[in-house]
Amino acid sequence: MSKIKIMDEILANKIAAGEVVERCASVVKELVENSIDAQSSDIKIELIEAGTTSIKVTDDGLGMDKEDAILAFNRHATSKITDEDDLYRINTLGFRGEALASIASVSNITLKTSTGLLGTIVVIKGGKVISVTNGDARKGTSIEVKELFYNTPARLKHMKSLYAELASITEYISKLALSHVDIRFTLINNGNVLIKTDGSGLLLKAINNIYGIEVTKKMLEVQALDGDYEINGYISLPQMHRSSRNHIITLVNGRVVRNIDLNRVINDSYHSYKPDNRYPIVVLNILVDPSLIDVNIHPTKMDIKFSKMEELLDLVKNMIIIKLKKQVLIPEVDIITPIYENNVIINDVYIKETVNKITDEKPAYENSVYEEQVLELDRVSEPIEVYDTNKRLPELYPIGVVHGTYIVCQNELGMYLIDQHAAKERVNYELFKENLGHPLKKSINLIIPLTIELTSSENIIIKENFPLLIDMGFEIEEFGLNSIVIKAHPTWLPSGYENDAIRKILDVVLEKEKDFDITKFNEKIATSLACKLAIKANMKISINEMECLINSLRKCANPFNCPHGRPTIIYYSNYDLEKLFKRSGFENLK
Ligand code: ADP
Ligand code: MG
Repeated sequence: MSKIKIMDEILANKIAAGEVVERCASVVKELVENSIDAQSSDIKIELIEAGTTSIKVTDDGLGMDKEDAILAFNRHATSKITDEDDLYRINTLGFRGEALASIASVSNITLKTSTGLLGTIVVIKGGKVISVTNGDARKGTSIEVKELFYNTPARLKHMKSLYAELASITEYISKLALSHVDIRFTLINNGNVLIKTDGSGLLLKAINNIYGIEVTKKMLEVQALDGDYEINGYISLPQMHRSSRNHIITLVNGRVVRNIDLNRVINDSYHSYKPDNRYPIVVLNILVDPSLIDVNIHPTKMDIKFSKMEELLDLVKNMIIIKLKKQVLIPEVDIITPIYENNVIINDVYIKETVNKITDEKPAYENSVYEEQVLELDRVSEPIEVYDTNKRLPELYPIGVVHGTYIVCQNELGMYLIDQHAAKERVNYELFKENLGHPLKKSINLIIPLTIELTSSENIIIKENFPLLIDMGFEIEEFGLNSIVIKAHPTWLPSGYENDAIRKILDVVLEKEKDFDITKFNEKIATSLACKLAIKANMKISINEMECLINSLRKCANPFNCPHGRPTIIYYSNYDLEKLFKRSGFENLK
């Protein structure tokens, strides 16, 4: 007797479900993508307990007739492709016809659907059709999935926490909303509205719906074009950053995709404008001939490969760098007008920080806030662009120093605070980087040669790197056992700090990584020297020295951040000052 048997359909679907639907988030993804494929303009996702108790997706799309409503739950039932040729020009999100069959095999489903005529209600339990009845004629579809994984307890156990499910669903719907700006999305969990977008067709409005007005105000519009690629979208000012990379969103031909190289280049373009462990908010739409891309069509992945990758990366990088270079990037101090209740400020900085923290990790949007934000969006103005990149810092007149640390400056626009250490660090960093990148090999002899003792392993490394140090402009020789002597050093080492600087450079050489990259190496030397040699806080400097520092800062390629990405300068506009002192609106006070 033969041992091979054809698997029964429900069992086969249950096995496939392991691949297609691993958690609540994947069910939501499949249902919402079906709604998008059905040309809906309004999609509502209602969850109970992050979807573990119930997931209901309601749309106003094409709907199904009775026959299709029943067929839809069969494996490989799809209306989206009919022959092999269709595979190569897929423009729907789904096409494998597996999702509904898989979901149905591990849950209880009620489907209500109508094409605008007499509707159909199908009830399915564990993959078996229980009943098919007539429903109302509202065009569209609603699918309610209950008791997900009730018959696959192992999977249920493996599902992460409710919070993780909800975070993953929120993230996914946010991305879908940003890639389908003409569709209204509503995401509700236990009756709370988490996401609500207006389907206005404008990307900036969708960004506002998802991230709120404070982020939207700090987004810059970008676009770029070459023979193969067309890019448009929004990037955040460097001062607006998040703790995770999840807010770098790339769409290719309208579809959210993931490409590690692309994300890396986007983040690297902000280098030294923001701290390295923080990430910008970016939404980029890339339009390209489909023949230049290869989308991995595994049901749960969105990985993509580009055949002209280098070209795309250069285009994206230049687009962002040029845009940032054109901006006056002095962060304006966020002023909250204090609200008093019984003589106590109830909206102090502490509260503001807490709110920021929450929205940083998991956006939660209340309806009322949403309405307000929409109104305010009309007042969002583009940050100031400058075209002479040498004049990115305005004229500033120093007045004094607070705590030996912050230089207070003024001009007709308001008041500025400069962190003198951060500013000096930036000036040094750019000077060192320039000199390291274009070594003139001009040296100065040390009056007293500097002898440095090393351990034997250090000695080996330093000796190996003599050529590198000589290229930089050092005159360096062995000196007895495990010692070296430095007789001359490059001219650009700051006078008075030569010995400190030399030791710091040797430290960097000792830490040199195996996969040596001269640019990164120079960058590291410039950063560590800059920090070491910058004026420390609490060091008194004269008004003249302040003016010199500001002038040098003005000449920097990026005067706004220290090499670690912290701001060098912040700004209080006259308006903010007046608002703080409650002068604005009270003309007679002036
Ligand atoms: P696929 O999306 O890969 O075609 P699914 O199992 O997700 O497979 O769905 C099967 C079919 O059911 C779809 O091809 C579509 O015809 C129909 N369908 C599913 N959801 C909807 C919906 N919300 N509105 C209209 N038709 C739908
Ligand atoms: Mg589908």
